[in-house]
Amino acid sequence: MGASMKLRRRLYTAMVAVVAIIAAPTYAVAAKADVFGPYSSDSGPFADNYIHTWCEGHANYIPIWRDSMQDAMDYLDLQTNMTTGWPQPCDINTDIWYDVYDSSVLGYNVRGLSFCRIALTSEGVCGSALLAMNSDLLNTYMDRRKTSCHEIGHTVGLAHSSQLTSTSDCMISGNYTFTFLNSHHKDHINSRY
Ligand SMILES: [Zn+2]
Repeated sequence: MGASMKLRRRLYTAMVAVVAIIAAPTYAVAAKADVFGPYSSDSGPFADNYIHTWCEGHANYIPIWRDSMQDAMDYLDLQTNMTTGWPQPCDINTDIWYDVYDSSVLGYNVRGLSFCRIALTSEGVCGSALLAMNSDLLNTYMDRRKTSCHEIGHTVGLAHSSQLTSTSDCMISGNYTFTFLNSHHKDHINSRY
């Protein structure tokens, strides 16, 4: 390689570096917003595909415990590329086993929780998650609907919304009544499924 060629290469490398620096802030802001998928303790694993089924762990819940979950699943279906549906019989392939427990089982400040119960692959894909709701803490439809939305979000890979803002959605932790996913979280879902 001639000296002028080397110089051109160096200039080209320098230009790429400058472009990278100019481009960095946008990327950094987007990356800082939150993690998606199995890359932090704050976010859930990925679901195995766009079809997200659910079942009632103890079968035939009374309407107040079924309807808020059904409505939150319907919302996921309507607002994203994912497809949900009515409760199926529980088996090892059911994406969400939905259950209701009291504080003595879940903990006294735990409104709901979810975790991968079987088949978490090395790529962070979960075959079937448990989603549990606290019967002592979720006294209204809005409480149950928000917590359903939140825990369903974790089962498809979403992390928490970090602080209360004008675009806060159900992925914020605590006693709120947001029942929707913000566009950022919907973009995460639609980019994957
Ligand atoms: Zn959470």
